[in-house]
Amino acid sequence: MKKMKGLCGSPGYGIGTAVIWKNTTTKPPRYAVDDRATEETRLKRAREACDARLCELEEKTAAEVGEAEAEIFSAHRMILSDETFFENALARVEPERLNIEYLIYDECRKVVATFAELDDAYLKERAADIENVCNDVIRRLLGESAPSAPNAGTDVEDVILVAGNLTPEETVRMDKTKLRGFVTEKGGITSHAVILAKAMGLPAIVGLPGALENVAPQDKVLIDGFTGEVIIQPDEEAYKAFLGKYEKWKKLESQYELASCLHSETRDGFHVDVDVNVGDAWSIRDFDAKKCDGIGLFRTEFIYMGVSDYPGEDVQYEIYKDIASRASGKEVIIRTLDVGGDKQLEYMGLRKESNPFLGCRAIRLCLARPDIFNTQLRAILRASSHGNVKVMFPMIANLEEVRLAKECLEKAKRSLREEGAVFDENIPVGIMVETPAAVFISDQLAQAVDFFSVGSNDLIQYITAADRMNESVQHLYDSCNLSVLRSMREVSRSAAACGIPWGICGEVASEERLVPLWVALGVSELSVAPSQVGKIKQLVRRMDRKTLEPEMERILDMDSIAGARDALDAILENLP
Ligand code: PEP
Ligand code: MG
Repeated sequence: MKKMKGLCGSPGYGIGTAVIWKNTTTKPPRYAVDDRATEETRLKRAREACDARLCELEEKTAAEVGEAEAEIFSAHRMILSDETFFENALARVEPERLNIEYLIYDECRKVVATFAELDDAYLKERAADIENVCNDVIRRLLGESAPSAPNAGTDVEDVILVAGNLTPEETVRMDKTKLRGFVTEKGGITSHAVILAKAMGLPAIVGLPGALENVAPQDKVLIDGFTGEVIIQPDEEAYKAFLGKYEKWKKLESQYELASCLHSETRDGFHVDVDVNVGDAWSIRDFDAKKCDGIGLFRTEFIYMGVSDYPGEDVQYEIYKDIASRASGKEVIIRTLDVGGDKQLEYMGLRKESNPFLGCRAIRLCLARPDIFNTQLRAILRASSHGNVKVMFPMIANLEEVRLAKECLEKAKRSLREEGAVFDENIPVGIMVETPAAVFISDQLAQAVDFFSVGSNDLIQYITAADRMNESVQHLYDSCNLSVLRSMREVSRSAAACGIPWGICGEVASEERLVPLWVALGVSELSVAPSQVGKIKQLVRRMDRKTLEPEMERILDMDSIAGARDALDAILENLP
């Protein structure tokens, strides 16, 4: 038995068998062959197919983004045309009697290992490029067209996935039916893989270096998302103790499920909507309007992931329309495309940035690509005639962006009007407050929009200057940092002065110790993972807002994070 401890990503207990996902070079099967000519033909076809795809991406990127960005793909094509590299693999077919995909995998490993020893960031990047190209060729040789899902092809029933890292796209592509949780070596507590885990009610541990080294395929693994503990090959005693906690938790979960249909009002009569965050296909499919007060955040970027090209207007319209109708008149806040940062789309051909979270993401990207933006705005507007739809712009950092985004919305409205399409002329427009810049001018922003939603996941990382994806600075990425808490007060004051509602859709909306503070500040909506709704509604129903207000002012005046955290914990503990 071994025990390890990582960061608590998503709460819950998971029991299962380890499936390892190393998103490095795809390891193909190794089998005997005796004919170089056959392998040569297979390789030629695979390389041609890869080249055709890269060529397509290169042209598309050059036309839609720019020549410089298209160079990523021309560089990949150059690697693909490297005769020496592929000849090295082919030359081994006959003497070693091995299949070509295995030999490419082996050659690639050697090259990557050589590059890894060099202390040169550029060459390290190049190693990653070589790996990508080889993976592509290997996949073609194996008859696959798209990268496979991390847990695809396993016959393990209850999977605990152990990975180096999980990108949002990989998380989206995972087979959820058998997944009981995951552990990653890298990643922070608000990475999108974690957000997805919460949406699925799956426990997740992140930021656990050495996980891949210490867990072997088929190991029995227990994960505790509340403490970050991972138990590998537990002995009987540890297993029994864990099972006890697991069963208790399952019982509590069913109680919360019942509570999700309740009215969430404080004891002194303040109502707080408890909405859900949705986005991936799984949460959209399972959305149940009876178990929440609406959708406080629809992360539309997931519609753009796992596909090989931009989803068109009609495709998007059908998805938005479906969810707006199923919401039965409850609000559906659709956030416009938020890619960049940790969410990358291969077909978009985005330029590699050294600081992607400070780069061209979200509204910045949409304003730079009006064609994509317009398609989405038209789809949202058309869907607005089927329910209570609101539109929200992410990553706003100045008033000009709001004006420009609203102009784009007006343009989309005009074109629909000309076509005689039906839509809500007065669709409410909101913004995410998730940059310190937006907090500082929230008084002005409040006059320009109909509602605010605080994106605390990003806001915390920008205020504390601690990357939300980087496990080594997670101790600084602290929701109880007084700058974060005071920013919330600032936003609440600006919203109140203009009489607009404000909500929170980042992960702190369901951080129990902080919910009393949000209620005291007058939050009108908390948007959380579907698995958290019941718990938060029950919590709100135990509060008395007027009593909490002075206590919270006292906390905001404290001079230490630990002091504030302890005081918040004490308040939570003493709620009736
Ligand atoms: C946030 O930043 O808090 C947020 C809800 O947006 P995302 O996590 O998708 O960046
Ligand atoms: Mg955000």
